[in-house]
Amino acid sequence: MAKRVAVIGAGASGLVSIKCCLDEGLEPTCFERTDDIGGLWKFKEVPEDGRASIYRSVIINTSKEMMCYSDFPIPDDYPNYMHNSKILDYFRIYAKHFNLLKYIRFKTLVHSIRKRPDFSLTGQWDVITETDGKQESAIFDAILVCTGHHTDAYLPLASFPGIETFKGQYFHSRDYKDPEEFRGKRIIVIGIGNSGGDISVELSRTAQQVFLSTRRGSWILNRVSDYGYPIDMMGSTRFLNVMKYTLPSSLVNWLAELKLNRRFDHANYGLKPQHRVFSQHPMVNDDLPNRILSGTVLVKPNVKKFTETAAIFEDGTVEENIDVVVFATGYSFAFPFLEESTVKVHNNHVSLYKYIFPPDLEKSTVAIIGLIQPLGAIMPISELQARWATRIFKGVTKLPTASNMKYDIAQKKEAMNKQYVTSNRHTLQVDYINYTDELAMQLGVKPNIWSLFLTDPKLAREVFFGPCTPYQFRLTGPGKWSGARQAILTQWNRTVKPTRTRDIANYLNRSSVPVWLKLFGLIVLFAAWYFFSF
Ligand code: FAD
Ligand code: NAP
Repeated sequence: MAKRVAVIGAGASGLVSIKCCLDEGLEPTCFERTDDIGGLWKFKEVPEDGRASIYRSVIINTSKEMMCYSDFPIPDDYPNYMHNSKILDYFRIYAKHFNLLKYIRFKTLVHSIRKRPDFSLTGQWDVITETDGKQESAIFDAILVCTGHHTDAYLPLASFPGIETFKGQYFHSRDYKDPEEFRGKRIIVIGIGNSGGDISVELSRTAQQVFLSTRRGSWILNRVSDYGYPIDMMGSTRFLNVMKYTLPSSLVNWLAELKLNRRFDHANYGLKPQHRVFSQHPMVNDDLPNRILSGTVLVKPNVKKFTETAAIFEDGTVEENIDVVVFATGYSFAFPFLEESTVKVHNNHVSLYKYIFPPDLEKSTVAIIGLIQPLGAIMPISELQARWATRIFKGVTKLPTASNMKYDIAQKKEAMNKQYVTSNRHTLQVDYINYTDELAMQLGVKPNIWSLFLTDPKLAREVFFGPCTPYQFRLTGPGKWSGARQAILTQWNRTVKPTRTRDIANYLNRSSVPVWLKLFGLIVLFAAWYFFSF
């Protein structure tokens, strides 16, 4: 009989987890507390309890070729950086294509998940759910927790003395939806993550003045990279990854910072941090420098304290008549339905093998999917995690011993602490290529570049020098997809399709330089070469 798996949540991680269960012959039941799929990517005017909430304008900062599921490319006419509504569309066509909806029980909250008395023998769980106020209990052989980590607002009010007497409005970025109601106001946005960046840029178009307050500054990346290609497609290549980890890190940081400073000098814009560019989660914002250049956003240091109407900053400057404060201070996460003995979270720190498996369980029948903060997209990583977890549930792959897992966890923590500045938001950082390769190795789906160079050099070139797109993990091994090679070889076509919306072939064919002038130019060049070489 097929093993029964409870999937908690029907967002980006939950949907792909259902599919992975089906691929491995397991029987999934997905519980989703709201009435729809998409999780964070389903925009609603009013934030819902227990589900992530986004602003109306959110455009993703990972490009479509890098964020898609590995056996289902995003349609070629979809933009590279999609609006949230388009992302939800993609999830809908994915769910429809693989017939996933019938496995989801909507409006069903998972209340508690407890080990059964015979857990050490069976690895089974009692799952209590609630639908329309009615509780139900069911037994499952395994659990995939896909509840996300951008739901619980982190609002550090205690760090901001005087906020309790502040007479204006203040709220967390989770509650921000639209700029219109803030027209003409003086606003402080606290925090320079991607939320702080997006929200200050958007507000600056209608507000009287926006102040962006940051305690340590930030490097700012652009979605649009060289020649107009998406930055993650240009930067996430196996070739560059080898360079990154071969060359001294100070040189790699210096080169990247040089490039960023050539776009705009981070010191002149008040943004230059003390830390190096690869020591923080990337902040991607194409418009922020423009808004600073036009004076509609002013970068300020941390707020020391608030008065009833003003903010006093750590450099002693004061901004009077503040109407609104937006705390774009990030998120914390928890698993209230699990016992601490299963997964313990303390200040955003959690001890999971490869960020997925609790190392101390007698049976490996629970996996946390999507609990990572990648330098890249979450979706394909959740997919690899779920592919691996479902094979472990099925019993065809095994985890190492608890002590080996703990050793790996400790090493990862040490490496993270070394690379990243200490912050609540740097507890789940993974490097896209290194981490996906690590998972792929466990699964047996990592492409062998060297043998590929011998057998299929055209493909090997694209796999090594081109973007490390998720299709690479469908070329070989369990879950191999026959369309993977073609998807890789056509990825640049899908990238340029949505921007080449005006046919310029006719113009390109018609040269503006007459033939006689070209010939004349050639003769001049040849004569110059002849003259100067003697
Ligand atoms: P979620 O999307 O949060 O889905 C979790 C689901 O679980 C929800 O549907 C929720 O209702 C359900 N649920 C929770 N608890 C229960 C329960 N007890 N019982 C039943 N159901 C439950 N990531 C990227 O890769 N690229 C980006 O550019 C990017 N942009 C982002 C922009 C913003 C503003 C934010 C806040 C995050 C962004 N992220 C981005 C990260 C984002 O978290 C992921 O893209 C993605 O949404 C993670 O999917 P998930 O399924 O793991 O979690
Ligand atoms: P975040 O990345 O955690 O950033 C939080 C910011 O708040 C950081 O600058 C942090 O500073 C600051 N902060 C936290 N506590 C503070 C305190 N006590 N005092 C002063 N500053 C404090 O949160 P986020 O920006 O909401 O992003 C969450 C996730 O969503 C990220 O993965 C992000 O990439 C994603 N996102 C994506 C988009 C997009 O795709 N367009 C938009 C928004 C968000 P320190 O660094 O000093 O701790």
